[in-house]
Amino acid sequence: MSERPLTGEPLPLDLLNTTWNGSAGLVDFLASGDGVRAFSLQHGVIVDTDVSAVTASLRQARQAIRTLLTDRADADLTSVRRLLQSARVSADAQGITLHAEPEAHLLAVRAVHEAVELLHDKAERVRSCAHPSCVLWFLDTTRSGTRRWCSMATCGNRTKAKRFAEARRSES
Ligand SMILES: [Zn+2]
Repeated sequence: MSERPLTGEPLPLDLLNTTWNGSAGLVDFLASGDGVRAFSLQHGVIVDTDVSAVTASLRQARQAIRTLLTDRADADLTSVRRLLQSARVSADAQGITLHAEPEAHLLAVRAVHEAVELLHDKAERVRSCAHPSCVLWFLDTTRSGTRRWCSMATCGNRTKAKRFAEARRSES
């Protein structure tokens, strides 16, 4: 199980960030049951049975959310709607709770639901990293709203170093 390069983003973006470009190509954190369990646990869901059903639904949600966030108003919402069909909502004095039928879909349903909300509330703050070979996403919570990189230490510096090299080359 590889170390994830970026964690701590809201659930829908954190789900997108389970794939990234590693040194040997695209890595999928959800490719192993351990990865699926660890990801779920980070979002408060214990997966003890049916790992494959959870994996399948999370992968569907990941694809649906990527389409939604990339294509925005033009997005094909078929898979988003299909996932939300397994959702049930209940309410009491504490608030609204989301359920899923089957239960294994719960985290995927939550992720899709939150992606739609995120896009509704903060669309212009939801971004993918500006580095061309990076596939990570983040919610820009800076006051200025000018965050461009998943991480300044990796993608930000890689890009700056490249620009510096190009500038030197064009000078000589
Ligand atoms: Zn990046």
